[in-house]
This record gives sequence, C-alpha cells and structure tokens, in this order.
Amino acid sequence: MIEIFSSIQGEGPLVGARQIFIRFQGCNLDCEYCDTEFSGISGTCQVENTPGRRDFMEIPNPVHLDTVISLLERWQSGWPGIHHSLSITGGEPLLQHEVLLDWLPQLRTRHPIYLETNGVLHGALFQLLQHIDYISMDIKLPSTSGHLELWEPHRLFLKEASHGNVFVKIVVNEATEDWEIHRVSEIITSVNPAIPLIVQPMTSRDATVAISPIRTLEIQELASVQLTSVRVIPQTHRFLNQL
Ligand code: SF4
Repeated sequence: MIEIFSSIQGEGPLVGARQIFIRFQGCNLDCEYCDTEFSGISGTCQVENTPGRRDFMEIPNPVHLDTVISLLERWQSGWPGIHHSLSITGGEPLLQHEVLLDWLPQLRTRHPIYLETNGVLHGALFQLLQHIDYISMDIKLPSTSGHLELWEPHRLFLKEASHGNVFVKIVVNEATEDWEIHRVSEIITSVNPAIPLIVQPMTSRDATVAISPIRTLEIQELASVQLTSVRVIPQTHRFLNQL
C-alpha cells in the first residue's frame, strides 16, 4: 500500500464527494498517460494524520487492517460525516483481491466502498463484487493508453460489473478516433446501454486539457447515438490542486 489520505473525488459521477483514498501499489498495465509512480515496492505507506491536511506519517508495509480501522474510527469521531465513501484505488487495486476479500467486509461497515479499476481483472471482481457499492471502470483507448488488445477483457469485466453499480470512464485527447468511440459504445450496449459513460478529457498536472472543446462535444455526440447517459467530466482535482 502506498497512501491513505482524505480528498475530494475528482472524476466521474461522484465528483466533489469527499472520500478516504486507500491507494495500492503496482499495476498490470502500462498506459502511456500514466502519472502514477511505480518505482519498486515501497517499504512504507504514507498515512495522513489529519484528514485533508497533508500531514503524512510513514507506516511500515504491510499495513495491517487494524491500523486502517483505527484511523477510520479516529477520523469518524473527530470529523463526523465528512466522508462520503472509501475509494480503493491504485495502481490496480484488484491485484490485491485476496487482501481486499478479507478487508472490504470490515471497511464497508464504516463507509460505502468505491472501487477505481482499469477494468480487465474480471475474475478478481467476481470474488469482490458483493462487497462493493460503486465501480469506476476504465475502458482504455489505444489513442491515449497505447493498449490495443483490451477490448475483450473490458467486455468481460463490464459484464461482471453490470451486476453492481458501475460506470465506465474513457480518457480522450485530440488523437482519439471515431472508431474507438463506436467500439466503446458497442461494448457498453452489448451489456446494458443505460450504463453511464464518462468522457474524461486528458488533463496534465498543470491542468492543461489535451483536446479541443469542439472535439470533446463530437465524442459526446458519437457516443450518445447508442448510449443513454454520456457526460463530459474533466479531472477536476487538477484544477483545484488537490491530490
Ligand atoms: S491502469 Fe492506471 S495505474 Fe495502471 S498504468 Fe494505466 S493509468 Fe497507470
């Protein structure tokens, strides 16, 4: 585990909700736009002492569930009601599905569980689905991620996730082509066209957006031909200089 901290959710339908983020290290993909540092296995986890104040302390890995529970209880009693949910993120958190199988039932007694995933490890999701309240699933586009081979794994994952509360997110930039949007729409439609699609303009750390306003609207129009709910939501935390 790399970090535990409190911040706002910057992406997707829950944008602006205050969450506790538990960030796991390691990923099974290698996206071109990735801004997550994976320089080996970290021996320590950065844990925020006061929610949202960035006063991190270092705790040796592996962090024990009791440590996380006592932090959540302290935050709940000191700052009651501020957190909407608990975001399980990474990296790819489903790589830790055995740990999560043990942890999620207990964490969920404190807060609803929000999973942020790259959307390919459907077998791991199957084991955890009953313990998750929200699934934020990526479909990786070749134009932005560099991955060409993930369409079928994404379809299988979405099929599994559709038994829960899922939305799909795609990161787009000026290089994103129409056929990619058709392919995403076709995958979602084959499972359930009412599953929301979030079109997320690629945003750099300095809050520069890598797609023109017109192209963004064109992508929304293309996806809306087949899908019921298509929303454009940027990475808002970048504009607010939040973690
Ligand atoms: S799935 Fe996410 S964490 Fe993994 S390489 Fe891609 S952007 Fe980075």
